[in-house]
Amino acid sequence: MVVRAFAVMGGTFDPVHNGHLQTAREAAAQLGVDKVLLLPSRQPPHRASPGRLPEQRLAMLKLAVAGDSRLTIDDRELHRAGPSFTVDTLESLRKEVGCNVSVSMMLGLDAFALLPSWYRWQDVLRLVNVVVLARPGAEDLSGELVDLIAERHQPPSALRDIPSGALTRVQTTQLPISSTLIRTDLEAGLSVYGSLPTAVIAYIREHHLYV
Ligand code: ATP
Ligand code: MG
Repeated sequence: MVVRAFAVMGGTFDPVHNGHLQTAREAAAQLGVDKVLLLPSRQPPHRASPGRLPEQRLAMLKLAVAGDSRLTIDDRELHRAGPSFTVDTLESLRKEVGCNVSVSMMLGLDAFALLPSWYRWQDVLRLVNVVVLARPGAEDLSGELVDLIAERHQPPSALRDIPSGALTRVQTTQLPISSTLIRTDLEAGLSVYGSLPTAVIAYIREHHLYV
């Protein structure tokens, strides 16, 4: 019997923005889970290390989730040396919660499209459910992923009763916001008001990030 259900969302969060936050909240509501663990990555395997220090990205995340009990931060990847492989993180989470708890990993469509290139991605699918979030501008999926969706798809509300191995797609409010766009706008001296929480903007200004 599934005793409990929660969701996770990994990312570099350089910086965290309303695309992450709003989408995670809306998707959690559709899944019927009341907790989303945000998992900042120390060293993403597929891209250059984030320009901001782990502690700066963590500080911004803490400001972003303050006052929202649905969103919590799990910083285990920041304490692990080497590339932050998601499979290692999920195995460590599973050891803590056991195999009966439903764990659903949220991935934007852009990130989902790259899933087959992840280290031990088949094991990732054994460890968690996958929730694919629509994202503006995201590319088409490979045949392999289209097949995966066809084989494993369940309605969003079904996932909280399935510990792992299922997949769902959720349609949330489409926010054309990305950390890349925010970094570019800040470097150009443009306003990013409305794209991320004001407390995070204040932190960015105070610490002279992205200039
Ligand atoms: P960058 O531009 O640096 O890649 P990002 O905005 O894509 O940053 P990430 O930290 O890479 O943010 O993303 C973490 C997760 O959140 C990924 O699964 C990504 O697809 C998802 N995500 C980020 N922004 C959105 C958005 N606006 N809508 C839906 N999903 C999003
Ligand atoms: Mg990204």
